[in-house]
Amino acid sequence: MEDYKTLDFDISPVGMSRLEGVDFSNLAFGKVFSDHMFVMDYADGEWKRGEISSYGPMTFSPAMMSLHYGQAIFEGMKAFRQQDGGVAMFRPGENIKRFNFSAKRMGMPEVPEDIFFQALVEMLKLDSGWVPNAPDSALYIRPFMFATESHVGVRPSQEYRFCIFTCPVGAYYTKAVKVKVELHYTRAAMGGTGAAKAAGNYAGSLFPTELAKSEGYDQILWTDAATHTAVEECGTMNVAFVLNGKMVVPQTSDTVLAGITRASAVQLMRHHGVEVEERKVTVQELIDASAEGRLTEAFGLGTAATVSPICTLGLPNGDWDLPEMSTWEVAPKVKALLDGVRYGTAEDSFGWNIPV
Ligand SMILES: *Cc1c(COP(=O)(O)O)cnc(C)c1O
Repeated sequence: MEDYKTLDFDISPVGMSRLEGVDFSNLAFGKVFSDHMFVMDYADGEWKRGEISSYGPMTFSPAMMSLHYGQAIFEGMKAFRQQDGGVAMFRPGENIKRFNFSAKRMGMPEVPEDIFFQALVEMLKLDSGWVPNAPDSALYIRPFMFATESHVGVRPSQEYRFCIFTCPVGAYYTKAVKVKVELHYTRAAMGGTGAAKAAGNYAGSLFPTELAKSEGYDQILWTDAATHTAVEECGTMNVAFVLNGKMVVPQTSDTVLAGITRASAVQLMRHHGVEVEERKVTVQELIDASAEGRLTEAFGLGTAATVSPICTLGLPNGDWDLPEMSTWEVAPKVKALLDGVRYGTAEDSFGWNIPV
């Protein structure tokens, strides 16, 4: 008999799973949703009892405050099918902490860490069949919270909904991306909300990104708001370079979100004896290094794509192409080290995998 801890929420499993109808060999990212979701509401200054139940639509008032004033945050994390057949989440505690950091920044209530964690565990137990096992696949987990009070007038909402749903996903990007070095638009400013996973940050990036796409690029390489001289992030990912043979990553700040993939990559590479610099990286430095053949790799780091190679840096005076990916050494090593831990094929030296 399993020793059941009393849960702080209810579980109403679905009567019939939709799993049978899913084509796991052809998963569009973020289009397929597992059977269950977790929902917990906040009102009267407290979190009410949550519930795991069937994934499905919700009904809201047109005056729901998140629609008007944008109090909405999210997280992105993954669970992986282990080599031994089990399922493990990768560093969920880091996502829980960052979620509550985002909540605080956006004037929203924090979610009790133990309930958040328990909800993840119980969701994954119920939907363990949805964790794919093909290479580069995973179960993407999307926790989010938004203001639900019906009220017109700017102030923090007094009611919120916290939810979690999951999506089985295959490999993300397939090819190297051309990035436009953005010298006009801004993703994040000092003192702003760039370090939080706030929905509005992404809304603000869409128009500049569409513009970049119309100019033949795939993504934007964001630069600092004040001077547009320092490189910050690539699309919705952190970014890393190999400069003069060294892995270099822009340091985190108000404007560079503290990615868990980034932190894990830096820690793992150092653990394996590779020197990594966390510092300011300037656009000029990249151009000079590129001209002299000292910029040998550039890649994005994030949960969705893990490692996303960059083939071209676009600047007003022309495009700078990176060397052929077949010559790259650092990016493949980062990917292999991260995957080794996450899929349970390498030693988990730091206890990052949390089996469910
Ligand atoms: C989520 C996110 C990242 C990457 O964070 P991970 O924890 O590695 O997924 C980087 N930058 C931005 C802007 C993000 O939203």
